[in-house]
Formats: sequence, structure tokens, C-alpha cells
Amino acid sequence: MAATLQAVAQAVPTVKLLIDGHFVDSKTTEWKDVINPATQQVLARVPFATPDELEAAIASAARAYKHWRNTSVGARKRVMLKLQEIIRRDMKKIAECLTHEQGKTLADAEGDVFRGLEVVEHACSVGSLQMGEHLEQVAGGVDVYSVRQPLGVCAGITPFNFPAMIPLWMFPMAIVSGNTFVLKPSEQDPMTTMLLAELALEAGVPHGVLNVVHGGKTAVDTLCTHPEVKAVSFVGSTAVGHHVYNLASTHDKRAQCMMGAKNHAVILPDASKDHSLNALVGAGFGAAGQRCMAISVGVLVGDAARWIPDIVEKAKSLKVTGGTEPGADLGPLVSKAALARVHSLIEMGVKEGAKLELDGRNIRVPGYPDGNFVGPTVFSGVKPEMKIYKEEIFGPVLCLLAVDTLDEAIAFVNANPFGNGTGIFTQSGAAARKFQYEVDAGQVGINVPIPVPVPYFSFTGSRGSKLGDLGPYGKQAVQFYTQVKTVTARWFDDAVSAGGVHTTISLK
Ligand code: NAD
Repeated sequence: MAATLQAVAQAVPTVKLLIDGHFVDSKTTEWKDVINPATQQVLARVPFATPDELEAAIASAARAYKHWRNTSVGARKRVMLKLQEIIRRDMKKIAECLTHEQGKTLADAEGDVFRGLEVVEHACSVGSLQMGEHLEQVAGGVDVYSVRQPLGVCAGITPFNFPAMIPLWMFPMAIVSGNTFVLKPSEQDPMTTMLLAELALEAGVPHGVLNVVHGGKTAVDTLCTHPEVKAVSFVGSTAVGHHVYNLASTHDKRAQCMMGAKNHAVILPDASKDHSLNALVGAGFGAAGQRCMAISVGVLVGDAARWIPDIVEKAKSLKVTGGTEPGADLGPLVSKAALARVHSLIEMGVKEGAKLELDGRNIRVPGYPDGNFVGPTVFSGVKPEMKIYKEEIFGPVLCLLAVDTLDEAIAFVNANPFGNGTGIFTQSGAAARKFQYEVDAGQVGINVPIPVPVPYFSFTGSRGSKLGDLGPYGKQAVQFYTQVKTVTARWFDDAVSAGGVHTTISLK
């Protein structure tokens, strides 16, 4: 029996580490299964890198930095031009891998890759993004200019819910600005990220410029404390984000942490009904609610509360099935642990007195008896003190509540501890303007449900959703991954000052 188990274990592929330009097997004894959440098939085993392997990855990045920082801006940009071309070439393959290991639908997986690809395209504008400033004649004969220089070895720690987009938020921007990088993807779905790492090498990223390690807390803590690492970019839950921010900052690193969310959609009674309710349901249940920009709270203002039955009907019509099935609207949750957590929060909502309008527990999905499925779930009458309102559920659960006025709605959104994204649905420009001006959230949508900024802008966040002032892509990413040096210069040459010919350089 033991021999059979060993044979099965050996048949499952292992996820490699990328160290110094080589995909290598880990020597660790600690492994985790990467599981297809729709079927429970073990797709691969991911290692928790040993301290020596973590050290080797960081040392490789430190060595590579010495030459990479001296490459020309144009050479770095051309690597990104190639990378965007081959990600586009392999889009379908990457999306399929993503659906298998993470569960989201194929269409959603392609969106995940595409949003990351857009950042790679934007990285190709590094020439203007990294450009400094110059002011002539600040005093007699004195000029001042600033340059943006890379920091050195930077690290990225990514969550499970966007295994293509979020790594692509980080390493292309860091590398194109002249840094080297050590990436630690989520141990729940590392295979998609490894496909991107393979493409990075094919695109011409030199050995050591990108390294990928796997693991959990030990790997993360090593990246946050190692003296060679100069900056840490983290995306994940609020609890871990606080830990990463504190650890990295107290070890003298620049840190940015994009964290948890509870995103509200405010629906005014004058909103275009079909557009708004479709947007609410799509943003509430798409990707099984496992998006940091998912709408998890609908705030119905005044008469808009009469639309609760319509919202429930629309939610019921969504197709829950394996992500590769045609017409799938939402797939499974990423793990059995996530499933158990979402179930327990739904139970808690019922206990605390919210009205369960639609219960997605105990859903049966034909062909997928073992999948981690929860169907769309809708609560109404949700109160701010309830656990289903206070906690990020990260599942297909929409909490609805009613208020009388726009002022009340804004105060309600602003009282929530998170400030990631929010949206308003209305046909009134004045109401939308007031909302946009007064609401405290990083991303605001006006009749747009998931207002993730395109990469010419930066993704951001407010209050409990973000630590550090600079965001992970857009101009802010280049600011995060570079250090400004300001030069004040004055030149003396006695011959030039005297109006004569330069003494040492021929001016002919
Ligand atoms: P997570 O915090 O559990 O994991 C994120 C990363 O931290 C992973 O790489 C993981 O291995 C590592 N990690 C986990 N526990 C750790 C510990 N104790 N010490 C050190 N490192 C640890 O997050 P997740 O479940 O993978 O992702 C979902 C969360 O990410 C949600 O809260 C979601 O809102 C958030 N998220 C935020 C954004 C944003 O931009 N604000 C984007 C995507 C996801």
C-alpha cells in the first residue's frame, strides 16, 4: 500500500523553483497538493522552499542586479515588448491552466491574463514613466535635475485569486525599471505563475533577474527581512498584509500592501434598472465572489429596495458549474477550507437575523460531485454589526440593505473598515458627482460595477484595504520601484567664463 501511494505521489508533477535562470526541483520535505477545485484532482505538488533555496534565489537576484541595472532602457523595454507578444500567443493555454488550478471560468481566466498583459504593455512605456525632471537656472548658472534609479532586489508576494494578473502587476514593472525580482506566488495555484515565468525567460529576461520561490510564512518572512531585499510588494488578505507591512518596514524596506475588501454598490431609485441589477449580480457572483473588487454589499436607496426580488431572480439564473463548461457563470471556490468558511458565515448570517433570500449551500452540480461549489446566496436586512457585513466573505454571497438617502448611503460606505472599491448606479450626474467626491474608497465606479483602473492609472485603496502610499501598477509602480536622486549642478570653466575657447576640449 505504502509503495502504491509513493508511486502515485511520484506520478504527480512537481512545481519547480526558478533560481538563477533554471527551473529546479526543490530539496524540501514539505509539499502541498495543487488541487483542481472542481474535481479534486491533484494537478501537481508545490514545494515549500528550504532556507538554502530562498537564500540562493535572493543571492542570484543580487548578482544579476549588478549588470541588469546597467542595461539600457531600450533593451529592458524590448524584453517587455517580446513578453507581451508571447503572453498574447499563449493566452488560451495560460487561461486553461488557471481555470484548472483556481476554478474560475475560462472567460474569467482569460480576463485575468488579459488585465496582466495590459500591465506588460504599459511597462513598454518605461522611457516616459521613469523619466526624471530638470529645471534650469534655479540660481545663477545652477541647474537641478532628478533621476529615478532602481532599488535593487525587490520581492512580490501574491494571492490565489488572480494568479496571472497580480504577478504581472509586479515583476514586469519592477524589472523594466532596472530592478531584479524574487516572486512568491500563492501556494494554492502556482502553476499559472510558472507559465508566465517560462515566458519571461523566453522573452529574454536574463538569468537571475526573475526568480520564483514557493512556500508560505517562512518564505514570506525571509523576503521581508533579508538585507538584500529593498522593497516588498504584497497583495492578499488584510491580516497577512499587516504582518508583511510591519515586518518589511521594520527591516528598512519599502512596502506596499494591497489587502482585503468589502465593496459596496449604492443603487439609487433613478438608476437604469436592468443595467444596474445585471452589473450588481455580475460583480457580486462572478469568479464565485473571489475578487478583491467583487461587490459584496448592495445599498438600496429609497424605492430601489423594491428591486430585491428582481436581484434574487437574476442571481438564480446564473449557471454554476466547472469553469471549463460552456456558459458557466461561476465556478467552484478555491479550496475545501474556503467552502467550509463560506458555509459557516452563511450560517452565522442566518443566526444573526439577516433574511436569507437565496441559499447557495447544498447545490448539486451535474458532473462535478466533488467540486467546492456554493451557488449565489443573497441576504437582505443586513445590519452593520453582523459578521456577514463586517468580514470579507470571499464567496458568492451578496448582502443587501436599505437606507433612505444618498447621504446615509455615503456615511454607511465610509464607516466600513475597508476602502477598496465602490460604485454608484444612478442617472443623476449631480448624485454621482457628490458620491465620487465624498466617498472614501480607492476605486469608484459610476454605473461601472468593478472599476479596476486600466494600467495608465494606478490601482489603489483606502483605509483597511491598503498600506503604503504607492500602488502596484501605473505610474505609481515605477515610483515604488525607483529611488529619486536629485542633482544640483554648477559648472566652472575659467576659459568659457572669460568668453574664450575651452582649454581641454576642442570646440571645433
Ligand atoms: P492570503 O493573505 O491568505 O495570501 C496571500 C499571500 O500571503 C500568499 O502568497 C500566501 O502564501 C501568503 N501568506 C499566507 N499566510 C501567511 C502568513 N501567515 N504569513 C506570511 N505570508 C502568508 O490571501 P489569499 O487568500 O491568497 O487572497 C485573498 C485575499 O487577497 C482577499 O482578502 C482579497 O481581498 C485580497 N486581494 C486584494 C487585492 C487588492 O488589490 N486589494 C487583490 C487581490 C486579492
